[in-house]
Amino acid sequence: MEGAAKTRTFLEVRRRLQSALLILGEPKEGGMPMEISIMPSSLQVKTPAGCTEIGLPAEVRLEPSSCGGLQYLPADGLHLRLQARAELSTKPSSMFNQSSQAQDCCTFYCQSCGEVIIRDRKLLRVLPLPCENWGALIEEWCCHPDPFADKPLHPRENDCFTGDSYILVNLRRDSQPRHELAQVEMHSLSSENHCELKPKANTKVICKRCKVMLGQTMSSETTKFYITEIIIQPSERNFPIIPRSQFVQSVIAQCLVELSSARSTFRFTIQGHDGKAYILLWLLNTDSLVIGSFENSKSIKKFPLLEDTLKADSSSAWNAVKVLYQPCVKSRNEKLASSWEDDISVHSLTLPSTTCLELLLILARSNATLPLSLRYMNSFQELFLAKRGSKSLGIMPVFRGMTDWNVKLL
Ligand SMILES: [Zn+2]
Repeated sequence: MEGAAKTRTFLEVRRRLQSALLILGEPKEGGMPMEISIMPSSLQVKTPAGCTEIGLPAEVRLEPSSCGGLQYLPADGLHLRLQARAELSTKPSSMFNQSSQAQDCCTFYCQSCGEVIIRDRKLLRVLPLPCENWGALIEEWCCHPDPFADKPLHPRENDCFTGDSYILVNLRRDSQPRHELAQVEMHSLSSENHCELKPKANTKVICKRCKVMLGQTMSSETTKFYITEIIIQPSERNFPIIPRSQFVQSVIAQCLVELSSARSTFRFTIQGHDGKAYILLWLLNTDSLVIGSFENSKSIKKFPLLEDTLKADSSSAWNAVKVLYQPCVKSRNEKLASSWEDDISVHSLTLPSTTCLELLLILARSNATLPLSLRYMNSFQELFLAKRGSKSLGIMPVFRGMTDWNVKLL
């Protein structure tokens, strides 16, 4: 980007639909003539104040001749639709790169402060846990007593079991001080509820350094860590520190993508470890590539607690999942929340309560970076969450009309 022109641009490319929506805000000065050039691999906006050029990621190409749906919305500016060619993004990366990492020694870190939680753990088996209510399912299907009732799924030393929003590891051998979990309040469970995976009030696992809640002890050996709170990396390898809000949203986005494809679930309740529902999420699509932003300094000031990772430098391209959300803190949306609670097609994800609030803040902030016309759909607020592994690329704005927005539901 060169020159002083601060053109607010927003381009959403739908990889599956091979289409793009470009929204181009008016320059702040207003009333200035604007010249827009759309090329297959870039966009250029010229005003008397300067020129903004946005390069598209290599895997995206626009078809300038297909421009249509030109529309002017006073709140946003120009909307324009066009066809695009975009490769479907590669497989999302998982917390574990099975091939290499499963064999190597791993170190677990606190995501918030970088403190080592478990050092040099060899994970020989990384296995997914059955769905949350598998016990109930077995009860339902078996005509005899549940044969697995006395065989709880507790990981052994070199195991790591993965749930929807957490992992289970065996922490017994980590007794040396430097390997030790900072501050674990162990809760001894009686033998009959040994296999129960329900949180107990005094079982919080807390980071010694920053006091963030990382997980919960499930039994004398099994510890649950929430995937939003820890990073697992091969030992002896350096890795970049990811800002907290970016990490949380990419982990959640990844989780939504995996659950929706594995279980055809599109509605989610985000609930705290205290059992309260904090957010209702409705996943719209997972194939968006978003370039540019409509964020202005006003909306940045609105969220002083968040680091400025999504800064609208119009040079970022990121893979995104598109969701609608409703907060349900402070008794908001109580009725809707309880109807979702009773609905078996709604999947619930449990996270530490502070992370639920953090996520709510991230959602509000992300929503504020969208052009006005995209921020609401019926009573829901819409936003994009950056997916893990999203790349920073050249910027590029495009516009397009909202009247034929391709997601119609509710
Ligand atoms: Zn910490």
